Amino acid sequence: MEQVAGLEALGTADGPLNMRGLGHPGLIHFDAIRDLFVATGLQPEPESYELFWMHVTEADPALSRALERLLTEGALTPEGVIELRRVHLGAIAAAEVHELVEAAQESANALADRLERGHADLKAYDAAIAAQDEALAASRTAQELADLIQRLRRANAAMMAANRRLESDIAAATLETSRLLDRLESAERAARTDPLTGLPNRRGLMDALKKNVARALEEGVPLTVGLADIDHFKRINDQWGHSIGDEVLRCVAAHLQAHARRTAGDRGIVGRYGGEEFLVALPGIGLSAAAAAMDNARAILARQVLRKADDGQCMGHVSFSAGIALLRAEDMVETLVDRADAALYAAKRAGRDRVLPEKPQR
Ligand code: GH3
Ligand code: MG
Ligand code: MG
Repeated sequence: MEQVAGLEALGTADGPLNMRGLGHPGLIHFDAIRDLFVATGLQPEPESYELFWMHVTEADPALSRALERLLTEGALTPEGVIELRRVHLGAIAAAEVHELVEAAQESANALADRLERGHADLKAYDAAIAAQDEALAASRTAQELADLIQRLRRANAAMMAANRRLESDIAAATLETSRLLDRLESAERAARTDPLTGLPNRRGLMDALKKNVARALEEGVPLTVGLADIDHFKRINDQWGHSIGDEVLRCVAAHLQAHARRTAGDRGIVGRYGGEEFLVALPGIGLSAAAAAMDNARAILARQVLRKADDGQCMGHVSFSAGIALLRAEDMVETLVDRADAALYAAKRAGRDRVLPEKPQR
C-alpha cells in the first residue's frame, strides 16, 4: 500500500508568486497601485511596484496577508519592502549581498597587504644574505667566520618566524573566505527555495527547467512538464484553517516528489509554481508515460483519507488536477509551461480530480 506523507509539524505561511490566471490586469490595478504608493509614501520604484502588483492581482495570498498587516500598522517602509521581497519573492536582500561583497573585498585586500609584507620580508632576507656573501669573501679569521655564521642564523630564524606568521595569516584568510562563500551559497539557496515545502520556488524551478529544456533539445530526448493544482484548496483553508492548509501543501509536495523520483529517478524535478500549484518536470519520459505516472500519483492521493496530526480528526480527501505537455523542438520554457497550463485548465473544466495531456499537435 502506498503511503502519502503524513501531516506533520505546523509551519509558517508562505506563497511564492502565482502570476497565472490574473484575469484583467488593466487600469484598475494601476489605480490601486497608485493608491498604495500614496498611502505608504514609498518611492515608486520597481521593487515596490512589483510587490504591489502581486498584491492587487491577488497573485500570492500569503504575500497579500503580510502586506496588509504592515499597511494596517502603517509600517510598510522601504525595509519592509525588502523583507517582503526576501520572504515572498525569494529575493536576496541587496543589503545582505552588499555586506557579503564588502566583506569579501576587505578580506581580499587584507590578504594582498599581507602578501606584500611577506614579499618585503623576503627581499630583506635576500639582501641580508647577499651582504653576508661579501663578508664571507672578506673574512679571514675564525672569529670573523663565527660572527658571520651567527648573523646568518639570526637572519634565518627571523625569516622562518616571518614565514610562520604569513602561513597562519593565509590560513585565517582562507577560512574567512570559505565562510563568506558558505554564506553566499546559503543566501542563494534560500532565494531559490520555497520555505514552506522545501521545494524549489518558481525562480529555482524556472532555472532548472531552462537547463533541462536545453539538455533535452540537445540530446533529442523527451521532456514532459506537468502542472498540478490542488482542487478546491480554498475550502480546505476555509474549513480547517490556514496552517492546516499549509500542512496539506507540504503533504502534496512530498507526495509529488516521491512519485516524480519513482518515474524519472534523480532527474525528476518538482517545485512550487504558485500558491497551491506544483510543477513536475520529467526528463526522459514521454507524454503518455508522464500522464500515466501523474494520474497514478493523483489516484493514490485522492484515495487517502487525510487526518490531522494532533488529534487524528478526519479531514476527508484531497485531490488535484493536472495538465501535461511534451517539449517540442520550437519550445521555450514559457511555451511548454503554457501548454501544460492549458491542459490543466481543461482538466479543471472537465470536473477536476483528473490528469489531461495536452491536445495533440495539429
Ligand atoms: P480550484 O479547484 O479551481 O483550483 O479551486 P481552489 O480553491 O483550489 O483555487 P483558488 O485559486 O480559488 O484558491 C486557491 C487558494 O489557495 C486560495 C489561497 O488562499 C490558497 N493558498 C495559496 N497559497 C497558500 C499558502 O501558502 N498556504 C495556504 N494555507 N493557502 C494558500
Ligand atoms: Mg490555483
Ligand atoms: Mg486549486
